[in-house]
Amino acid sequence: MEKNEKNKKEEDNKEELTIEDIPGVGEATAEKLRENNYTDIMAIAVASPSDLADLTGIGEGAAAKIIAAARKIAEVGNFETGDQIYQRRKDVHKLKSGSENLDTLLGGGLETQAITEFFGEFGSGKTQIMHQLAVMATMPEDRGGFNSDVIIIDTENTFRPERIIQMAKAKDLDSDQVLARIRVARAYNSHHQILLGDKAGEIAKEHPAKLLIVDSLTSHFRAEYMGRGSLSERQQLLNRHMHDLLRFGTLHNAVIAVTNQVSARPDVFFGDPMAPIGGNIVGHTATFRIYLRKGKAGKRIARLIDSPYLPEGEAVIQVSEDGVSDGT
Ligand code: ADP
Ligand code: MG
Repeated sequence: MEKNEKNKKEEDNKEELTIEDIPGVGEATAEKLRENNYTDIMAIAVASPSDLADLTGIGEGAAAKIIAAARKIAEVGNFETGDQIYQRRKDVHKLKSGSENLDTLLGGGLETQAITEFFGEFGSGKTQIMHQLAVMATMPEDRGGFNSDVIIIDTENTFRPERIIQMAKAKDLDSDQVLARIRVARAYNSHHQILLGDKAGEIAKEHPAKLLIVDSLTSHFRAEYMGRGSLSERQQLLNRHMHDLLRFGTLHNAVIAVTNQVSARPDVFFGDPMAPIGGNIVGHTATFRIYLRKGKAGKRIARLIDSPYLPEGEAVIQVSEDGVSDGT
């Protein structure tokens, strides 16, 4: 816990820094950088000198200096020893999902300090699972919950308190109390969504939340950045957003649960007609990816993909009026 507090303070200090704090970045350069989506120090730290020079019109030598300075501030290359990482891993908690099958697939539940992505077609149950997770997080620890508040970023206007009430009742919880612990913000576009991701950190200072949900992670990005031309800009913004989310997860030892639709438009997106939106950026930043598809009679099949240390596998879950469960 002490360690988290310390991290939090260090991160808070870093949070106050803007790109103008990089030596060599004046007002005019800062403006050009922002126009080109280099909005934070980390984005500049990982940029290439020639890209930065092209975009801003400053010389490549000056760009290299700015990048070097940004790296210093961002502490890129700050390696941790295995035992430090192991120590942090010991703080990882697991949130039960409502379905034991799904929990088993995930090695005991959804992990804190990581992003778990549920992707699948429209109607595959992603939003139902998000509602269920919100209810679960408010439950006491001895029932697999976090006894915690929840923050939801709702981009598709699909949050339904009525559904929370049904699910809470099915768990014999006081539904008013559950609703009072869930804070929902609508995101009207991708920029708004990014801002809300930032804002979540502030809200959590007052109302600690160990579950942050973004449903859906990608729909605004997909709608706003159509076609190949704007792909790199979209990926850059998505990358930044996901790293904000991941940082929230680390700082607050929280579960980050996000949803993603599969694209059936191979002409616009990546080769596979059933590929999740967001390509490599989302794929590499999400620690756990679960592909949902419809089965018979309200059943859903959840498949774990690309986990760093869990075997691939499938779990059958059920979506009913009572929420998400194994069904029987
Ligand atoms: P998406 O993956 O698009 O977010 P949803 O999570 O919204 O999909 O899933 C919608 C499906 O969930 C519905 O088609 C229905 O099968 C199921 N569902 C939603 N509400 C209920 C309910 N009250 N009782 C039973 N099933 C429900
Ligand atoms: Mg949905």
